[in-house]
Amino acid sequence: MVKAPPPPPAAPATCGTVADTPEEASSDDPKLIVIKPPILIPELAARLGLKPFHIMADLIKLGVFPAPNQPLEPDIAARICESHGFTFEREKRDKDKGFHKIEEVIVEPVAPVKEPEDLLKDRPPIVTIMGHVDHGKTSILDFFRKSKITSGEAGGITQHIGAYQVIHNHQEITFLDTPGHAIFSDMRARGADITDIVVLTVAANDGVMPQTLEAIKHAKNARKTIIVAINKCDLPSANVQRVKSQLAEHGLQTTDFGGDTEFSEVSAVTGQGMETLLELIALQAEVLELKANPKATTRAAVIEARVVPGRGTTATVIVESGTLKVGTPFICGPYAGKVRSLINDRGATIKSAHPGMPVEVIGFEELPNVGDHLTEMKTEREAKALANERQEQQRLIRLKPQHRTRMEDLFSMVRDVSGKAQLKLILKCDVQGSVEAIKKAVLAIESEKVECSFITAAAGPITESDVAYADSTGAIIVGFNVKVEAKAVKSAKAAVVEIKLYSVVYELIDQVREAMLGLLEPLSRETVIGHAEVRQIFKLTRGRAAGSFVTDGRIHRKAHARVIRGGVPVFDGRMSTLRRFQEEVEEVRTNFECGIRLGEFNEYLEGDIIECYKLDKIPQTL
Ligand code: GDP
Repeated sequence: MVKAPPPPPAAPATCGTVADTPEEASSDDPKLIVIKPPILIPELAARLGLKPFHIMADLIKLGVFPAPNQPLEPDIAARICESHGFTFEREKRDKDKGFHKIEEVIVEPVAPVKEPEDLLKDRPPIVTIMGHVDHGKTSILDFFRKSKITSGEAGGITQHIGAYQVIHNHQEITFLDTPGHAIFSDMRARGADITDIVVLTVAANDGVMPQTLEAIKHAKNARKTIIVAINKCDLPSANVQRVKSQLAEHGLQTTDFGGDTEFSEVSAVTGQGMETLLELIALQAEVLELKANPKATTRAAVIEARVVPGRGTTATVIVESGTLKVGTPFICGPYAGKVRSLINDRGATIKSAHPGMPVEVIGFEELPNVGDHLTEMKTEREAKALANERQEQQRLIRLKPQHRTRMEDLFSMVRDVSGKAQLKLILKCDVQGSVEAIKKAVLAIESEKVECSFITAAAGPITESDVAYADSTGAIIVGFNVKVEAKAVKSAKAAVVEIKLYSVVYELIDQVREAMLGLLEPLSRETVIGHAEVRQIFKLTRGRAAGSFVTDGRIHRKAHARVIRGGVPVFDGRMSTLRRFQEEVEEVRTNFECGIRLGEFNEYLEGDIIECYKLDKIPQTL
């Protein structure tokens, strides 16, 4: 149940529809929550009268998987507040604190805002190709690129800008150029969940392989529509039925057998079935009713960024809403910019890009991150002011000590959702044989209280994308006889993701068992240490004290205490004062008198029993 939050503190002016002065911005509206970024989960939870794991559950529902101490985007905070019947406003800093004052014009990088129905127009689906290595992902992308993109337009040659579009029956389809789930999870980890449809590629001669399963897991976790492309059907060794039954075992049942997954049998070499695959994508896009408002404030997700000699910093974005035009000032991550030039996937310079379209943007001040959002601002000045503010926020976050009580966070986060604590692991090993052996051994550790699951388990080094995935899911990375790529070390440090490396299997399994123990909330054990009887009530200038006589054990100033009346506890809390005559004491023993005050409790009656107890935390075992 949502409790009313405390009234917001007298706050500097908030942005959005806000007042100019700090005073005006503070509100008596009990349904208004004003927080100054960084917006951290514990603070938001406290303001909503909830526990952090409630917020985590909300975030999971929204498809957002932040690390426990990662600040939330204001739009996400706003959506959570809204779902609990509150309004969220982001508090801005004022001049007095040495920051730029930002007027009410700031457009947060927000907000899949609900657009008026009549302004919504169909937009192309955004498709990511996933599957096991060598199953033909790149070949499928290349086939469409070559066969469906007509040369002869400006530039003539297809440019690799990170994504491209094909036209099928007058309908645009956008393909992300980097196949595989690495970029997919990277983007999701950074809050840019732009894929609509996943084409799962499985080679007909090879069948379901470990990365096929990983891809299914990623796509399902992200609740994406999956279309299966059984590739290499031209090969004599192709066995389509085997692939279908293997996939059925993993929850992908073809519509032919009453399931709900569309399958196509293709060959990226001969082109067989490729038209049908496009047809299926187009049909699924229709079912998904993908729409965007081309007149909205422009928002786009960065899918690739690089420095091009002669052009400077460029990034390819996919427009999510609005229309990106040359001359538009924008904010992207912590940097401001202005669109100087737009180049499409055929190398042609264009003036504007509509929703769903990939376009290379020139005009970035600094190299943005993949997954950052580019958001249109009204003026360059506003863009710069917001950039300054975000840089300042980042600086403050960097200054904050980054201790992450991962295990506890994980515990409180997950228990509420599933009723069982969960330890999530990303396992990387030298060879597939070790993956299977370790997985089996870990899954054999039985516990009624902790569930261990593998987000991914594969052979290969620990990569940056493993870290991004661990960060977004709250998993711990466990490596067996593998190297950690240099970039992964860096990002793990930045994201405070735990990487544990082992070369002895039993050590690994023992440590996982210990981690599972660490996830168990210690039990609280109460030990009563003494009783006192209230004999006389003293009125003080503020409140009352209970003149008491210790009947057994001892009364300790730092202990917990409850007031028992007629055998029923009427108050339970902590001791605030313990005195002998006028003197503060630590402890009073049996047969001595003392004066007791308990927290804010003042309703003592003669004859009440004050029971003093201590609470010990007992670690649980599996
Ligand atoms: P990726 O690792 O999934 O991107 O796979 P590639 O697209 O690089 O393909 C791996 C190999 O399979 C290459 O040698 C391709 O030529 C070959 N290949 C891809 N698709 C087909 C196909 O439909 N039929 C045949 N016979 N070979 C294919």
